[in-house]
Amino acid sequence: MIQKPKGTYDGYGEFITKYEYIKRIFNDLCNEYNINYIDTPIFESSELYHRGVGETTDIVSKETYDFKDRGDRDMTLRPEGTAGIVRSVIENKLYINLPLKLWYEGPMFRYERPQSGRYRQFRQAGVEVFGDPTPLMDANLISLMVKFYQRIGLKGIKVRINSIGNKESRESYRDALLKHFKPHLKDLCEDCNNRFEKNPLRILDCKVDSNKECMKNVPKIVDYLDESSKKHFEDVLKYLDLMEIEYVIDNNLVRGLDYYTDTVFEVEANIEGFGSQNVIGAGGRYNNLVEYMGGPSVPAVGFAFGIERIINALEAEDIKVIDDKGIDAYILPVSENEMDYSLTLASFLRDNAFKVDMDYTNKTMKAKFKEADRYNAKFIVIIGEEEIKKDILTIKDNLTKEEVKVERDNLLDYLDINI
Ligand code: ATP
Ligand code: MG
Repeated sequence: MIQKPKGTYDGYGEFITKYEYIKRIFNDLCNEYNINYIDTPIFESSELYHRGVGETTDIVSKETYDFKDRGDRDMTLRPEGTAGIVRSVIENKLYINLPLKLWYEGPMFRYERPQSGRYRQFRQAGVEVFGDPTPLMDANLISLMVKFYQRIGLKGIKVRINSIGNKESRESYRDALLKHFKPHLKDLCEDCNNRFEKNPLRILDCKVDSNKECMKNVPKIVDYLDESSKKHFEDVLKYLDLMEIEYVIDNNLVRGLDYYTDTVFEVEANIEGFGSQNVIGAGGRYNNLVEYMGGPSVPAVGFAFGIERIINALEAEDIKVIDDKGIDAYILPVSENEMDYSLTLASFLRDNAFKVDMDYTNKTMKAKFKEADRYNAKFIVIIGEEEIKKDILTIKDNLTKEEVKVERDNLLDYLDINI
């Protein structure tokens, strides 16, 4: 038997209920914040990620799904959403109307070692805002994220925040890090030894070395921020305080991607026994990426969260989601003779926005009633010979089991009032 690829999963049942719930809440919130939906391809030319996300990030150096298409072009399944959206903003000249606020949701692909909360195909949702350089927007997006977690019912969340400054601040910080780590290279893992050459900032992001002695007294980036970056960071914190959003400053937070500037943040699920894949969302400001990718100089800020990890967090906190999967009416033809009438009735009710199902096979009455239960039907509309003759329908309330007769002409009113 052929099985699903390693690191993937099939979504059905309870998973889909939770997934749709999360998507609906996020969609509503983005509407409230005046953010529009954008949809970009699941694969892009490989160059986009090598250039956009950066060669020294794990995502690009170790985790991409690369392939050649039949026209011998180098393609990559998208490992994240930002690069594709930036490409789209430049290619379609969406930057003409700034600020531009966009949200997305969809599958991402990373060749990682699969474990709980870490898949090779997973879903992210996120927001990108272009053309607003203010610290207010950074705080605004963090507030959106926190509101989202609150609205889905998660309690144990922790926001960590840091500033990695602008390019100039990072250069001088980089020198300080090189000096600091040089005598400790033997103690650091192989990846960090590579990072030391290419991007020492990323050593702070290492999961293997995070508890080592030389990590405890690393120089802090806040001490290297220039005046404008310092002010930006202070203002973000001020606005968070104003909105009463709790956070902790984490000096070692640098994030995996090369394109960030100034504010970076992560949200952690702070739930006992949740496991090590506990970062459920992350983001930051990336003021140089649009220009770097060939567009005009447009500042940007965004975040993304992992949907599977949020579903895990909902489960860890035992949060039940509202399941609106039940149907309004189940139409039950008593025999084959009533099929035509039932079919047109079902179509009529659907045209009037009721959720309706019926059985198209010739099941026993008992089996049909069972099916209505399985679909969580509020009403069962029974259609027999008599009903058709008189155009008066028998309607059974599936909860109280009471039966009433309703004229077909009054059916819509009856359902409207009782559902
Ligand atoms: P991690 O440090 O856990 O590898 P990351 O820094 O690679 O995360 P981002 O690139 O910032 O993650 O992606 C944003 C979010 O997407 C993460 O916070 C996480 O919730 C989720 N995510 C990332 N990789 C995976 C994966 N392989 N499977 C499931 N969710 C993921
Ligand atoms: Mg990762």
